[in-house]
Amino acid sequence: MIMIDTHLHLEMREFDPDREAVVQRAREAGIGLITVGIDLESSARAVELAHEHKIYAAVGVHPHEARRYAADLERALARLEELARAERVVALGEIGLDYYRNYSPREAQLELFRAQLKLAAKLNKPVIVHDRQADDDILAALEGAGVRGVVHSFSSGLEEAEALLGLGFYLGFSGPVTFPKARQRYVIKRVPLARLLLETDAPFLTPLPHRGRRNEPAYLRYIAREVAKLTGLPREKVAEQTTRNAAALFALPPG
Ligand SMILES: [Zn+2]
Repeated sequence: MIMIDTHLHLEMREFDPDREAVVQRAREAGIGLITVGIDLESSARAVELAHEHKIYAAVGVHPHEARRYAADLERALARLEELARAERVVALGEIGLDYYRNYSPREAQLELFRAQLKLAAKLNKPVIVHDRQADDDILAALEGAGVRGVVHSFSSGLEEAEALLGLGFYLGFSGPVTFPKARQRYVIKRVPLARLLLETDAPFLTPLPHRGRRNEPAYLRYIAREVAKLTGLPREKVAEQTTRNAAALFALPPG
């Protein structure tokens, strides 16, 4: 069964001891990978890893990191554009807004998010969006931005889901769909399979039955299994359609 883990962070230090084996286990499980940067350094590393392991990369600056680049945004964007033009880079991400942790001031997050959306439109690349308790500002920024993309590890409610679907966006689901009380379990039943992507967000958000330990892309199978259960569709159908969705959004070459 072929699947695509559309969001993980393979460059993070949690994978330093056994990165090679993690990629190998994913490969054996038939899982393709999109590794996602969170700042300029990790994005550069994501591009390297994509070449090294014949996987795909996304490059972008996470809202948590916005304050670091606020003083010289132009320069950061120029470097990001250079990275985004590299081979095997299929998206701008992860970018977005996080009003839950607020590690960076909201104005800096917003300025950076809008600038990266503009860059994505210019380069005609899809975006991978992080939204934590920032629904209204996310929607306002995406409306009229002229980009396609996914809101990853979707954690908002039905209203936000419907608004994003209306904008043509995909929704990415990860480990929390396996958690008994997660809102995602309710929301996912109302998302058309044609707009759904699977992801692990590894090393974070480990699904059951491994919750509490480090996550890795091979665990995508637990997420696919739960999505099949929740939607009442055969697991093969979930794998096949979500893979097709990822290939379409990220313009992945066949195979
Ligand atoms: Zn992530």
